[in-house]
Amino acid sequence: MSRDDLRAHLEFFGELGVEGVRLDREWRARAASPARGADPSSSPGEPAGGAPTAAAAVGCQWLARQASADTLPVIREDLGDCTRCKLHALGRRQIVFGVGNPLAELMFVGEAPGADEDIQGEPFVGRAGQLLTKIIEAIGLRRDDVYIANVIKCRPPNNRNPEPDEVEQCEPFLFRQIDTIRPKVIVALGKFAAQSLLRTADPITRLRGREYKYRDAILMPTYHPAYLLRTPSAKREVWEDMKRVRAILRGE
Ligand code: URA
Repeated sequence: MSRDDLRAHLEFFGELGVEGVRLDREWRARAASPARGADPSSSPGEPAGGAPTAAAAVGCQWLARQASADTLPVIREDLGDCTRCKLHALGRRQIVFGVGNPLAELMFVGEAPGADEDIQGEPFVGRAGQLLTKIIEAIGLRRDDVYIANVIKCRPPNNRNPEPDEVEQCEPFLFRQIDTIRPKVIVALGKFAAQSLLRTADPITRLRGREYKYRDAILMPTYHPAYLLRTPSAKREVWEDMKRVRAILRGE
């Protein structure tokens, strides 16, 4: 890591409100250990390598997924060149399905693709996405370790809010993604994702900072990275939420 990289890294931690780091080796080793199935050398859907016990655990997850017919490629195929809602005729360039580790313990769910995502076909690749990547790295993970998707798979025109009929058509695919990946923790990014997953109209200020049982996972709503770009002071609360996410993933 260069001095500039290090400075940028420390500045970001400062912005998040991180006031120090622990120096004991055991803690740092745990922070650096990869997430479930995160071996980059393994292909998607295959057991990751590692110590025999870790390999056996991941192998069981892999077998369990093989036993259930639904897999991410099957879900993507069912989605097809979707025309179920009006968004297909309102200027979307492509469907933005989701990206990441199919065995991820941590999943992020956003609202809908924006302009950059519509062009690149991957969620959270614009400015907000770059901040999300930093947030993921701040808890010792890489973007490849987690899975990232949106409630809505097509870009709404002019980034307007998704409409109820669009959510109704699209969310079953998100539910299938969640049930296939079976993450331990789902982070709902922003008001829209949190409200639609939790079926509530409560404001994000009330929803965040709490844990909800959601389909076999723990759901943690937090602020959307686009909001953090406009309101940097809210990064501290996101950092609190992410520390809790990290603790849950570690079984603490
Ligand atoms: N905002 C979202 O909610 N999702 C994306 O993929 C990009 C920006």
